[in-house]
Amino acid sequence: MNPFQNAMTQLKKASDILNLDPDVLEVLKKPKRILEASIPVRMDDGTMKVFSGYRVQYNDARGPFKGGIRYHHEVNLNEVKALGFWMTVKCATVGIPMGGGKGGVIVKPQLLSWSELEKLSRGYIRAFADFIGPEKDIPAPDVYTTPQIMAWMMDEYSKIKGYNCPAIITGKPLRVGGSAGRDTATAQGGFYVTEELLKKLKIKPKSCRVIIQGFGNAGCNMADLLFHAGFKVIGYSDSKTAIIDMKGKGFDSHIIEKIKKKKGYVDVCDCDNIKCKCKDHKHLTNEQLLIQDCDILVLAALENQITKDNAVKIKAKIVVELANGPTTPEADEKLFKKGIYLLPDILTNAGGVTVSYFEWVQNLQSYYWTKDEVFEKLQKIMVDSFNRVYDLATEYKVDLRTGAYLLAIGRIADAIKERGV
Ligand code: NAD
Repeated sequence: MNPFQNAMTQLKKASDILNLDPDVLEVLKKPKRILEASIPVRMDDGTMKVFSGYRVQYNDARGPFKGGIRYHHEVNLNEVKALGFWMTVKCATVGIPMGGGKGGVIVKPQLLSWSELEKLSRGYIRAFADFIGPEKDIPAPDVYTTPQIMAWMMDEYSKIKGYNCPAIITGKPLRVGGSAGRDTATAQGGFYVTEELLKKLKIKPKSCRVIIQGFGNAGCNMADLLFHAGFKVIGYSDSKTAIIDMKGKGFDSHIIEKIKKKKGYVDVCDCDNIKCKCKDHKHLTNEQLLIQDCDILVLAALENQITKDNAVKIKAKIVVELANGPTTPEADEKLFKKGIYLLPDILTNAGGVTVSYFEWVQNLQSYYWTKDEVFEKLQKIMVDSFNRVYDLATEYKVDLRTGAYLLAIGRIADAIKERGV
C-alpha cells in the first residue's frame, strides 16, 4: 500500500465535497520540492557506508515547511511525500502558521553505534543545510529520532551558520532550547481530543478498556496519561511482540516501561521468555492485538495497520490515530459503516507539531514558557480544533477524518488563492 496514494485519495474526497478550485487541487497534488542526498558515514570499523536521505518540502502557503525526520529501514520517497502532505494538512487543521514537510533516512538506527548515529545526523544536516532554516523549513523528531539527535542537528547547523540557531529544529532537549512539554506533547494532544470525544459520546473514562499499538514516544506517553486518568489499558505492543491482559483489569504502564527497559520488549512479568506460563496475560502478534475486544484502540506505530482486510474485525468503539497514516482509505469507509469513531491523525497527533511550533516561537523570542503555560495553550488549540472538526463532520454527515480535511484544505486553499497560485 502506497501511503502517498492513500493521502491523495483523502485529498480527492475532501476536494469533491468542497468543490475545490481545480488549480488549488493541482498544486496540492505535488510537493513543492523533493530533495535527495547521499550521506557518507565513516563507520567505527573504518569502513565507509553511504546512507540515502530525503527531505520533502510539501507546501508552505501557510508558513515555513515543518515536519520530522524518520530513521527507519523502510523509509522511501512515497512515504516521505505522504508524511509531508499530512504535515501540511495537520498544521492547517489546528490552525498553526506552518506548512508541511518531512524527512527520512533509510537506516536501521538500532545497528549504529552512538558515534555513527551522531555522524549520520550531522551528515543529514550538512546535506540539506542550504534548503532548511528557521524561516524556511524546520525539522523535528519522528520514528527513531530523539531529542539527542535534534541537539546534534541543531549544533551542526549552528556551526555551518557560525552562530547559535536553536530555531532551526524542534524537539530539542530542554537545556539547548527545547520547550517544556514537547516530550509528551503528541500524546497529551491525543489525550485532550480523546477526552472531548468521550464527552460527546457520554462515555466515562473509567469504563473504557484501551489497547495501544506502539510503545515509543507517542504510545508510551499516551499509556501513562490514560493509566493515570483511570482508563484500563489492557493491551500493549512494540515491534517485537504484543501483550493482552486476560482479566481485563488493565496493566500499570510504568511496570510495562520498567520491564521493556530490562527485556527490550513489552511485557508485564519478569519471566525470562515470551512463552511464560503466567495466567493473567498472554503474548500475541501485533495483527492479533488490533482485533481484540476493547473500547479504545490507540494506533501509535506505523502506517497501514488497519486495512480493508482487518477493518471488519476491529472491535473497538473508538480508534485513536497517534501514528501517521495507520488506516487506509478503504478501511476508513468500513469503520465508518460499522459506526466506529476514528480520531484522525491530522487532528489527534497534532499536539506534537503544535508544541514544536511553540518551541520555535520561544526560540525566536529567547523567552521560555512553563509547562503549565504550554499545556494550557495546547489544550485550547486541541479542544477548539476537535470541536470544529466534529461540527463539520456532523454538518456534512462524514467521518471525522473527512471533517478535518474539510477544515484544513479550506484553510490551505484560501492561503494559496490569496497569495496567488
Ligand atoms: P518511536 O520511535 O518513539 O516509537 C515507535 C514505536 O513503534 C516503538 O515502540 C516500536 O517498537 C513500535 N513499532 C515499530 N514497528 C512496529 C510494528 N510493526 N508493530 C507495532 N509496533 C511497532 O516513534 P514515535 O515518535 O512514538 O512515533 C510513532 C508514530 O507516531 C509515527 O507514526 C509517528 O509519525 C507518529 N507521530 C509521532 C510524533 C512525535 O512527536 N513523536 C508526532 C506526531 C506523529
